[in-house]
Amino acid sequence: MGKLGIALVGLGRYSAGQLAPALKETEHCYLAGIVTGTPSKVDKWKKDYDIPDQNVYNYQNFDEIKNNPEIDIIYVVLPNALHAEYVVRAAAAGKHVICEKPMAVTVEDCDKMIKACNEAGKMLSIGYRLHFEPHNKEMMRTGKEKPFGNIIKLKAGNGMSDTEGWRLDKKLAGGGPLMDVGIYCVQGCRYTTGMEPVSITAKETPKTRPEQFVSLEEGLTWQMKFPNGIIAECNTSYSKNMNLLRADCEKGWAELSPAYAYGGIKGNTSEGKMDFPQVNQQARQMDDFAVAIKEKRPTRVPGEMGRQDVKILQAIYQAMETQREVFL
Ligand code: NDP
Repeated sequence: MGKLGIALVGLGRYSAGQLAPALKETEHCYLAGIVTGTPSKVDKWKKDYDIPDQNVYNYQNFDEIKNNPEIDIIYVVLPNALHAEYVVRAAAAGKHVICEKPMAVTVEDCDKMIKACNEAGKMLSIGYRLHFEPHNKEMMRTGKEKPFGNIIKLKAGNGMSDTEGWRLDKKLAGGGPLMDVGIYCVQGCRYTTGMEPVSITAKETPKTRPEQFVSLEEGLTWQMKFPNGIIAECNTSYSKNMNLLRADCEKGWAELSPAYAYGGIKGNTSEGKMDFPQVNQQARQMDDFAVAIKEKRPTRVPGEMGRQDVKILQAIYQAMETQREVFL
């Protein structure tokens, strides 16, 4: 098998700025097609990525992609609430699927997506690029091989000073910064400990721009209890820049800051600076999925992982709204 053909669905900022350029660096897959609702974007994409007319689709004729042998993988990069529909349609078209985070806005939708891919005999992966990033992989090792002893405490924060567009529309986003960037803290704590949280408490941050955040949180802090008494203190916001993942252990600590960026990730430990290269995370992520398909092995970042995060995000909102500890 040569390079597998990927079609990007939704030519927004992430597709244009990160995924498509990364697909010029991948060894096992390439950008074969596009799906867009904006005809004015088509010419530039066709030219920049050498995409033939027959590999250009819109949301109406999307299902015809099933007749296109050049497309092996459909990568859904739409606003969160649209992920479920397009993953189900992609599976029905007989294609493998990558879906961006958060996988969906409800656990029920995640179940439908997993079922559709299973029934079609196709693989489903979530765009969790940090599983292929060396500093974040070192955090996974910190929990697994315990170079500093058992983890006692985690701290994770991910936030930005502002946002716009569909991210402020609850129907399309499913929530505020928690769905968009706070999810990285949930992921970070899960992959650092290698464990699942057992309970959650949460508190909404007072709004500084209530007119902008009518039905969404502007910010949120939450605490996750993990087995063995490990506590994770987490924070997300659309009005404050944060980018941290830290594990305090019995005999030392490890910290990434920034932890979740596309590049420039920096790591320190109680023993000194982490010395790992910066990599093209998206290229590695997509290549790994292509190789998994070729080798018929599971993806490291499957739909089930995305579903578990959505389940935790929903529990965080429940804890925030009820002001009670929510048990998972
Ligand atoms: P953008 O708003 O930049 O792009 C979304 C694109 O979706 C639009 O450009 C449009 O493409 C298409 N679209 C279809 N229907 C709608 C609609 N009703 N409203 C708005 N857009 C629509 O978003 P991003 O690219 O930043 O995010 C897309 C997804 O990728 C999200 O799920 C986000 O969480 C995820 N993401 C993941 C990142 C990561 O690091 N893994 C980083 C950034 C985003 P067109 O005009 O072609 O139809």
